[in-house]
Amino acid sequence: MSPKVKSASNGYCRVCSARISSFMSFGRMPIANGFLRPDGTENEYFFELAPAFCEACGMFQLLEQPDPQKMFHEQYAFYSSTSRYMQAHFEAFADAAINTVLAGRDNPFVVELGSNDGIMLRHFKERGVRHLGIEPSANVADVARTQGISTISAFFDRRLANEIATDQGSADAILAANVMCHIADLPGVAAGVQRLLKADGVFVFEDPYLGDMITKTSYDQIYDEHVFIFSATSVQRAFARFGLELVDVMPQITHGGSMRYTLAPRGSREVSKKVNEQLAKETTLGLDLAETYVQFKANCENSRAALMQTLERLRSQQKRVVGYGATSKSTTVINYCGITPAHLEFISDTTPIKQGRLSPGAHIPVKAYDEFTKSYPDYALLFAWNHAAEIREKETGFVGAGGRWIVYVPEVAIVS
Ligand SMILES: [Zn+2]
Repeated sequence: MSPKVKSASNGYCRVCSARISSFMSFGRMPIANGFLRPDGTENEYFFELAPAFCEACGMFQLLEQPDPQKMFHEQYAFYSSTSRYMQAHFEAFADAAINTVLAGRDNPFVVELGSNDGIMLRHFKERGVRHLGIEPSANVADVARTQGISTISAFFDRRLANEIATDQGSADAILAANVMCHIADLPGVAAGVQRLLKADGVFVFEDPYLGDMITKTSYDQIYDEHVFIFSATSVQRAFARFGLELVDVMPQITHGGSMRYTLAPRGSREVSKKVNEQLAKETTLGLDLAETYVQFKANCENSRAALMQTLERLRSQQKRVVGYGATSKSTTVINYCGITPAHLEFISDTTPIKQGRLSPGAHIPVKAYDEFTKSYPDYALLFAWNHAAEIREKETGFVGAGGRWIVYVPEVAIVS
């Protein structure tokens, strides 16, 4: 059964309620992480993937988002800890919090929104730091609990914040990684953060960064789960009315370019000069101008044309081409560009739960990584481009056998 669209903005900004309209459409799109069993392709759910930019508050957002229950359901295939690279990243994130904001505090309390399988909180647990994870996906939350990581399976809002504050006290730090951009009710979460945070507490979150997406034409950041793509400008404005001030920013290389934002109750901390520098950079980039998104749309169309021209050419030459990495991001690329099983023999992925399934929308088979190494294809379309350096280092055998990578960020190219 298809879910009804729960989170439509109805043409109003989800943050400031100004009137907005989409500047482009990526067309009919399935759930990005909705990998299908071969016998389960009937009644596949589609929605229109159409981003909008709010000129009033600068927030980049989706006009329509499928029911969150549909996206973060029981079979939710993404476990953070399956990526060794992300494990190291979250250990560093936890260390940074422990060594800076929590240093010298008496019995501090850390809350993580969207704590997944406990990939970050385990570092607090190991050091005996009082912690609580909030993870809407029940089976993922169970994985964390079996490792002794305190976890509630719920959606975070002001009501839940109130319950936590009453039962366990206010939080010294609230953390979120690749979570805030998923939550359509940003004002509701901000109100919850405001309620739960101590007067000298901090809220630290990181998400894919709009500036990187615009400069790299990495439009595959746009998919159902990413209802927002943030910038320092839009974050500063969105949280201001909840008494939270942007006090620091730190660019991250994760997910093809992310930003870590630190917010604190207004006036409680000094604002780093990096904040103003970042805001100035964004003005220079034109992130607050509608015309920037008109240009982005043209860049997306050019990228699509170049990629399809390459794939069609290889197809006419009867080359073997496979996809590398059945990522959520790949769903936007595949369906927007019109890539089919005629272009890609299969997509190789190391995640067992995705293997033997079909890609959302285009129904390209997902196969185990062994299938890639067993008989190298002529070309591999690198969907996991954000891990390009790591992957190209690992796959010297593929290139040694004459294989070539097809990349599309920042530009479509064939590389060895
Ligand atoms: Zn707005």
